[in-house]
Amino acid sequence: MKCPRCQAENPAGMKFCGQCAAPLALVCSSCGATNPPENKFCGQCATPFGKPAETRFASPDSYTPKHLAEKILTSKAALEAERKQVSVLFADLKGSMELLVDRDPEEADRITATATVASGCPNVGR
Ligand SMILES: [Zn+2]
Ligand SMILES: [Zn+2]
Repeated sequence: MKCPRCQAENPAGMKFCGQCAAPLALVCSSCGATNPPENKFCGQCATPFGKPAETRFASPDSYTPKHLAEKILTSKAALEAERKQVSVLFADLKGSMELLVDRDPEEADRITATATVASGCPNVGR
């Protein structure tokens, strides 16, 4: 029997093409008989074959709009980046608070300024 997709010759009784895996036969869901892929109804019990299976089980990608999927991915990445930055700032702040204990205000101010410059963020502590 000939493959309907690539025209390769396959031994009779095969269900799929040995060259391109295209279905060579339809298996009836009602009686289990194998039918040629072009059959619309089962040759044994007349059950209609309907549409190919792959159109019935569409993947989620095909019905999620592309722009929406991209937006979800982008906002997720932004959220993670923000969270990282916040925890870094918190660690900096905690460190300088410990340094400030038992120091006079003038020196404390100098340390805070140094810490601010070290953290690379000019808006912290000012
Ligand atoms: Zn084929
Ligand atoms: Zn049948």
